[in-house]
Amino acid sequence: MNAKHQALWALVLAAALAGCQTTATRSTDPATQPPPDPSAQEARDALLERPRHSDGATALEPPSPNARLKRDRLAEADFERATAGADALARAAPFAPRALRPKEMAVHAIDVGQGDAFLLEFACGAALVDTGLQRGQASRDRLVAYVDRFFDQRRPDLHRTLQLAVISHSHADHADGVPFLFGGDRPDPLAVRNYLDSGYDSGGGAPDQVFLRDHAQRYEAIRMEDILWLEGATSAVIDPLPACADGVNPQLRVLWGGLPGDAPSQFSNPNHHSVVLRVDYGEASFLFTGDLQSRQGALDGGGLGWMLDDYERDPGVFDVDALKVSHHGAENGTNDRLLAATTPCLAFMGVGSPDDRGSGTAHDHGHPNRNTLDRLIGAVSGTRPRRDVWAFDGADTEPRKRQLTKALFGTAWDGHYVIYASAAGHWRVLTERGESVPVQCR
Ligand SMILES: [Zn+2]
Ligand SMILES: [Zn+2]
Repeated sequence: MNAKHQALWALVLAAALAGCQTTATRSTDPATQPPPDPSAQEARDALLERPRHSDGATALEPPSPNARLKRDRLAEADFERATAGADALARAAPFAPRALRPKEMAVHAIDVGQGDAFLLEFACGAALVDTGLQRGQASRDRLVAYVDRFFDQRRPDLHRTLQLAVISHSHADHADGVPFLFGGDRPDPLAVRNYLDSGYDSGGGAPDQVFLRDHAQRYEAIRMEDILWLEGATSAVIDPLPACADGVNPQLRVLWGGLPGDAPSQFSNPNHHSVVLRVDYGEASFLFTGDLQSRQGALDGGGLGWMLDDYERDPGVFDVDALKVSHHGAENGTNDRLLAATTPCLAFMGVGSPDDRGSGTAHDHGHPNRNTLDRLIGAVSGTRPRRDVWAFDGADTEPRKRQLTKALFGTAWDGHYVIYASAAGHWRVLTERGESVPVQCR
């Protein structure tokens, strides 16, 4: 980072801190929250009573240090093989998934370790949902290499321009790739036409959000008090993707976003403010959930519970084929109500390798959680060839092997992977480890 960029970043950070409702701290995913506040119910009830409409135009309108990650070797040989580190993958031939076919879109899940980064590819445009990093050079190199290969080799027709970028919430594991893709010390930063975030600036990713607001041509804060419609909300900024030459027009809408500024303190964790984005592509559909979570230590309440209550009269808005598992498979990111509403045939997540150790890793957080994995295995209808994966009983516990035969994909066990969805509702997932998995969704 050069001096000019450092100065800019300092300005951005100062602006973010000035706008914070709580002191910004450098933390990837704080597990601590204040105790429940009795006024939470009142605030929720007040919002549930807000007027709802089903028609009309919408009213909405610095990197981690290069510390070498400590890697503990675990005994099982297949464990090492399935969770081979980013260094080994970086030395292998780059993952080159096949091109899009007519009337097909793809979601590229970029393996950034413990974090989320999803690149949505359409025949005539691209969108980025989160651009997180796990601490360390390897994660950054893999993100930058993947995105550069995408724009420079696979899709030079897109001229390194994103029609849309979304940062679901202001945590570093969802936002810290921003300076490396868009920053001023890059000779060829990506251009962004439209940018969305929750408007909630608290947490390590806040400077990244502030930077993108300036970098993009148009910006819209997704505040849930502005989502007045039973089916969510959209606008020219939320859904800037046109119908492509193949005739398919992807439909994007938001179902959740930043809570009101006077929301109870139990909602101070940015996870509760995650922008939830639904993407419909012909017969295929995706739900991106950021790190939306229930009340700490519970399976209900919190932003997740509030959202499900809010759409109680029309839970069909959540009914999708592909569910991005919230919060890297944390126990508080997925409950039975959400799974009953989404009925996924396929679920996918960004989560770090279990043999990376240290602050902010999957091991540190205990992601994915074993109960969540079991819940997903019970709910996901699609299948994949048997694969051994690992899950945790809690933060900083030893991972335990689980056998997966359901269509659940994760960067920890699949590396990069690409989910192809056709407008007719056909699905296939290609993984960096060489699997090609058809998923039955109808
Ligand atoms: Zn988070
Ligand atoms: Zn996260």
